Amino acid sequence: MEASGKQGGAATGGQDIQLGFVENAEAWKLISRFFPTKVGGKPAWLDLKNLPPPEMMKCFHCDAPYAFLCQIYAPIEEKDSCFHRTIFLFICKNPACSQEDEGGIVALRCQLPLDNEFYPDTPFEERPVVGKDEYGAEHYMNICAVCGCLGSKQCAGCKKVHYCGKAHQTIDWKMGHKQNCKEVGRPGDGSSKFLLPEADVVIEEEPADAKKREKTDEEKMADYATLVKDKIESLPDADVGELDKMASSGGDDPVFTRFRKRVAREPEQVVRYWRGGAPLWVSSRRVPAAADVPACRCGAARQFEFQVLPQLLNHLDLDETGDSVDWGTLAVYTCSDSCQPPAGEPAYAAEVVWKQQL
Ligand SMILES: [Zn+2]
Ligand SMILES: [Zn+2]
Ligand SMILES: [Zn+2]
Ligand SMILES: [Zn+2]
Repeated sequence: MEASGKQGGAATGGQDIQLGFVENAEAWKLISRFFPTKVGGKPAWLDLKNLPPPEMMKCFHCDAPYAFLCQIYAPIEEKDSCFHRTIFLFICKNPACSQEDEGGIVALRCQLPLDNEFYPDTPFEERPVVGKDEYGAEHYMNICAVCGCLGSKQCAGCKKVHYCGKAHQTIDWKMGHKQNCKEVGRPGDGSSKFLLPEADVVIEEEPADAKKREKTDEEKMADYATLVKDKIESLPDADVGELDKMASSGGDDPVFTRFRKRVAREPEQVVRYWRGGAPLWVSSRRVPAAADVPACRCGAARQFEFQVLPQLLNHLDLDETGDSVDWGTLAVYTCSDSCQPPAGEPAYAAEVVWKQQL
């Protein structure tokens, strides 16, 4: 993955760990043609046509449609078939499902060669798209007006607006489609109710510890504590900072202490990317053994690729009910061969997400 996330970016050959940080960006930059790394909003699909079917996009526990969480643009330089490559994460917004050790989340991997049916082989100029976007999934498929996934159902009234299923049709009806169905045949505001807040994710290399040698570990921990405190004080009462919540429940687990020390180098990081490396666990509970991560269906072993940190929760506005979606870390394992899904199947291969809670 290249630091700037530009088209044709190179995967890192070395062992450098790359960190992702949430940054505000104009929405026009976060669409398919610019191969974004981002959180929230609708997915910026890579293959624009062979999208995952609704059955794949439903929570295994409660059947609710998943919400798009984030996508990481991570081409593999040595592999022609992975000139473009993006890993997508979707979660169930039902808090009870996020408490389950398994399920309630899905990782999908998609890749394309430079010469492909969707995009030209030179990068697009960075400016807003005027008019219809020929390089978006809507150009090829009916897309759910609420979640941005495949929308094979259409509103029977206007026959103009599509949904992935009943749940999203109902949200959108209540959020304004009821009024504008007959008049204008445009979607309501259901997507704003359902989608997570959208932001860019910028990538930087993790700084070496040596750069901060002038400070002792104690000093760094003190800086970190100050940062956490500032963060909490800047938040509304009900919204307790994730790091603080963890600090109070992590206790003296040495794995958690190691996590805190390492994250203290860049406390605002929300993603750690290290393909073929090792995740930074938050807890000594539920650390997977090799056998816990199944091989890909092509036969190749899966390897760690990136993890999402709990700091991302601070950006997601999921706390409205008090009882909220939660995780310690989400570690994503992908096919070490980054194999191509067979022709005729969705171009999005389901990979493995290992969830750790504190
Ligand atoms: Zn669920
Ligand atoms: Zn939908
Ligand atoms: Zn309608
Ligand atoms: Zn594979």
